[in-house]
Amino acid sequence: DLPAEKHEYQAEVNRLMDLIVHSLYSNKEVFLRELVSNASDALDKLRYLSVTDPELLKDGPQLDIRIQTDKDNGIITITDSGIGMTKQELIDSLGTIASSGTAKFLKALKESQEAGMDSNLIGQFGVGFYSAFLVSEKVVVSTKSPKSDKQYVWEGQADSGSYTIREENDPEKLIPRGTRLTLYLKRDDKGFAHPERIQKLLKNYSQFVSFPIYTLQEKGFTKEVEVDEDPAEAQKEGDEPKKKTKTVVEKYWDWELANETQPIWLRNPKEVSTEEYNEFYKKTFNEYLDPLASSHFTTEGEVEFRSILFVPATRKDDITDSRKTKNIRLYVKRVFISDDFDGELFPRYLSFVKGVVDSNDLPLNVSREILQESRIVRIMRKRLVRKAFDMILGISCSENRDDYERFWENYGKFLKLGAMEDKENHKRIAPLLRFFSSQSNDELISLDEYVENMKPEQKDIYFIAADSLSSAKNAPFLERLTEKEYEVLLFVDPMDEVAIQNLVSYKDKKFVDISKEDLDLGDNNEEREKEIKQEFSQTCDWIKNRLGDKVARVDISNRLRSSPCVLVAAKFGWSANMERLMRAQSM
Ligand code: ADP
Ligand code: MG
Repeated sequence: DLPAEKHEYQAEVNRLMDLIVHSLYSNKEVFLRELVSNASDALDKLRYLSVTDPELLKDGPQLDIRIQTDKDNGIITITDSGIGMTKQELIDSLGTIASSGTAKFLKALKESQEAGMDSNLIGQFGVGFYSAFLVSEKVVVSTKSPKSDKQYVWEGQADSGSYTIREENDPEKLIPRGTRLTLYLKRDDKGFAHPERIQKLLKNYSQFVSFPIYTLQEKGFTKEVEVDEDPAEAQKEGDEPKKKTKTVVEKYWDWELANETQPIWLRNPKEVSTEEYNEFYKKTFNEYLDPLASSHFTTEGEVEFRSILFVPATRKDDITDSRKTKNIRLYVKRVFISDDFDGELFPRYLSFVKGVVDSNDLPLNVSREILQESRIVRIMRKRLVRKAFDMILGISCSENRDDYERFWENYGKFLKLGAMEDKENHKRIAPLLRFFSSQSNDELISLDEYVENMKPEQKDIYFIAADSLSSAKNAPFLERLTEKEYEVLLFVDPMDEVAIQNLVSYKDKKFVDISKEDLDLGDNNEEREKEIKQEFSQTCDWIKNRLGDKVARVDISNRLRSSPCVLVAAKFGWSANMERLMRAQSM
């Protein structure tokens, strides 16, 4: 026998293990969710690869997950017939930080500055494979990849900085393909090794796994058996011993299916409840909160696919995050293909949308390159984007104004980015935008609300950009418009102005910057202006002389009411706000 090789964990894993083993996290049962999801991923990978390489299934076509419990000894085994791991893959996957969820967990932990204290993060981000150590003192992973003819065993203890790897040589323990995890539970956690407990947890955590999960359950049935009467009893009564029937319970163990494997998106939307969508969303994307909205649809015609989309209640990734989000899970004929997209199915500014997409029209062996080139994908993308906008519009029409406020707080910047980047969808984006206004007291308004509130003679939509709400409100430019009771949009986010400039107009009404010269409110009295200009022309010259190069021109203006003068931007130049922006960027 070859001795077991000892390996050290990557430093980050050590830290993570330490946190997990000593955490006071009470929701330890998430370990099952993580391990079943790994089993499901391994089955997904195998099913996907076997499409082009059927040989991979030569050790058996079965794709399932089986969970066995030994309650007397506190042991749980989880066996999948998935892709398994080679020796190198074992080292790469179970000794380093492989999962992006785990990396995010560590990052969030660092940010929260309460190392080890904020144990809720464990459930929120998921700590992947290592969550086995929430409940186990020892974990053994025995695995066989179809790429290798050997089966390897990884073994780790809760409180040690290393793990071992050896070859499996007990013929009793050989598996044809896949991975078997054996968890030796900590003394206080042995309660998890009850078959009914596992069954219940699976119902809760894994009802949307698309492979059958079986648990070994103890069953019994009653039967009548013939027994001889007790001879002593018979003698007492002076009879010959008689035959008697007796009812006994026969015990046996049998595999019981724990989940429903029909994917929810294949069901009729009319028959799926909001709770079911929410559960599906939370389980699939490891989310805590219900989504703000969901949309389940089928498209037919040129390209057929089914999809369920969601708007998450909170945003985990920043808009500037260049990392891929894994928010869209693509299936082809119910086979999971990938969640590793980079703008193929959704533009960047809609990358916060999560969901599943299942197409019958793409080839099963579809690759990134094919996705990028595919006409089908382009059509799918168009439809998905439209549906996403419908869903967002739905939130904005909700009776509950808070819903959209929440949406806007999280994703407003994304939509403004959309206004800058996606001309094709301007009509869909514009009604979703929100701005402060001179007449709405710190409440955000929509462009529709603005247009509704326009005066009959008012032609344009007025805006002013400033670096704060109070400086926008106090700008002298507002005076004349306020006098006429014209509403003015107040742009305080630097992105507002850029977004609006890209839109140009809304419902045929131009956006007009009231801080630029030549503001025409349609009420100019040319005669009177001419007179005043003449009267004050020397004063203007004098001021221009005094200011020199600091200003381009000094003019008489009719735009003020109570302020004596104002600095305006040239019609074709940058607004003062844009100048501030450009200056900030060039620093
Ligand atoms: P993630 O699942 O997010 O990648 P995990 O920590 O849960 O992160 O798992 C780490 C890696 O270990 C997986 O990416 C996978 O390569 C490997 N792995 C874990 N469980 C299994 C399994 N049952 N079968 C095959 N590979 C597995
Ligand atoms: Mg995982």
